[in-house]
Amino acid sequence: MKNLLNELSHLFFPNYCPVCGNKLLLSEEGVCLECLHKLPRTHNFNEPDNLAETLLAGRFPFERVATFCVYSKQGVLQPLIHQLKYNNKKEIGILLGKLFGKDLLGSDFIKTIDYIVPVPLHPKKQRKRGYNQAEMIAEGLSESTSIPVSTGNLVRVIHNPTQTKRTKTQRWENVKDIFDVAHPQLFAGKHILLVDDIITTGSTLEACAHALLQSRDVKISIATLGEVF
Ligand SMILES: [Zn+2]
Repeated sequence: MKNLLNELSHLFFPNYCPVCGNKLLLSEEGVCLECLHKLPRTHNFNEPDNLAETLLAGRFPFERVATFCVYSKQGVLQPLIHQLKYNNKKEIGILLGKLFGKDLLGSDFIKTIDYIVPVPLHPKKQRKRGYNQAEMIAEGLSESTSIPVSTGNLVRVIHNPTQTKRTKTQRWENVKDIFDVAHPQLFAGKHILLVDDIITTGSTLEACAHALLQSRDVKISIATLGEVF
């Protein structure tokens, strides 16, 4: 019955691929197969000292960094990230996370990870969007790798508006402290895979790592869907 309803709804309300605009087949979820094959994958999880690792080197201690695809304005990933962030298409995050997870499965990169931890969204933004896009990617990664997702321990701190009166240096101190770990002992001795949608300057990931390092003997690796350098 459910399948019949799916087929009927597909017949009357077909979904379109957000990249090429073609009608999606019933078997295609969110993106057409042709566009999925065109994704410019980096495969850099096999490549120590890749571009993302070079960007973050020396800023905080980490094990490895991997990105799924190259992100560019005219590229295949751009419309997908746009749908994920601004058009309520959380299934695109899950799908891309699953594909990334399949690439990582069995690799040294993923072998020692204990928890997948999405970068928390500002609570106001999350309420507006209805979900955290990084968490959708984390869920997809978890589906493929069977590594559990941890949410609620790495948290975003809500700021007091009077802090705008602070000096520039004080504000930078503030940015550094926008994340916190609620129960540092939960991550003690664990290897965390920190997940976000895109890495550009790396400052958000750096701020998250800063918070995670409160946990004793924690190890940090990073995975993002896109890289823009
Ligand atoms: Zn397409």
